[in-house]
Amino acid sequence: MDNCLFCKIAAKQIPATVVYEDDELLAFKDINPAAPVHLLIIPKQHISTLSDCDDSHTALLGKMLALAPRLAKEHGVSVVYDAEGAPTRGYKTLINSGPDGGQVVYHMHMHMYGGPRPWKGMH
Ligand code: ADP
Repeated sequence: MDNCLFCKIAAKQIPATVVYEDDELLAFKDINPAAPVHLLIIPKQHISTLSDCDDSHTALLGKMLALAPRLAKEHGVSVVYDAEGAPTRGYKTLINSGPDGGQVVYHMHMHMYGGPRPWKGMH
């Protein structure tokens, strides 16, 4: 897409701190982090919103979600269990869709937030 910010990031026309890349996906640091770790996972292919997805996107969406635990490990926010077996640390995955969903950039993306709380304006 001609005027899409995240297409331009995927095409390396606009710089970003890339933390993962393969033939279908790109993950990079959010420019205005709302948590100590704030990553964005995008498909390289332009899809405006989650509402443009259907059954044909199942594998792609699964791949986006499955990337989160890998990135969580790499960025030190994976869920780990303490001596009593209670979960510690952790992260949030979020896809905003449409104006009521708080979507600002119309290239579908999954946020991954993690790190010690409190987080800026988030619960
Ligand atoms: P919201 O801003 O409500 O989270 P979105 O879900 O559409 O809306 O998220 C867009 C995200 O893209 C924001 O977190 C914003 O900080 C991030 N962003 C905007 N421009 C860039 C950029 N050039 N590089 C990295 N992240 C960006």
